[in-house]
Amino acid sequence: MPQRIQTDVKQIEAVLNQVLGTAFPPVARCRLLSSGMSPGHALNITQDIAGHKECLACGNCIDIWPALAREPGRRRRTEQRTSMALEALVAEDCDLCYACALACPQVDTTIKHYIVNSRLVEVISRLAERIGDDQEPDLDLFLEEALDG
Ligand code: SF4
Repeated sequence: MPQRIQTDVKQIEAVLNQVLGTAFPPVARCRLLSSGMSPGHALNITQDIAGHKECLACGNCIDIWPALAREPGRRRRTEQRTSMALEALVAEDCDLCYACALACPQVDTTIKHYIVNSRLVEVISRLAERIGDDQEPDLDLFLEEALDG
């Protein structure tokens, strides 16, 4: 739940590109580069958590991770739903799809827009190359449903 005034990507572009270019889930590092919790949050707590950048354990990044659709057995390795759990489950098997960072409520919209504008064309091209691959039945199914729908 980022602040109203968010990280200016121009100020962190070099480090952000390093994060986005490394095959390891980027969500935690994108969260730390963000502005942190908005003072206008609606959580029922008394502590002042404005600006805090911790993982909320919402599990969005785990739920969106595409390899868990391919290998649901991995999810059974832990009950935790944090970015640290995601890193343990995925490690270097990261597809560099950036879905975890886009799904995280603690990542600034400025960073999400940068990812969409600068990286998604590349992601879509990589996915397009995998259509028809025997190891990617979920991708073929997704495409079939999209074309039928
Ligand atoms: S999506 Fe949720 S669980 Fe994942 S890093 Fe962000 S706050 Fe934590």
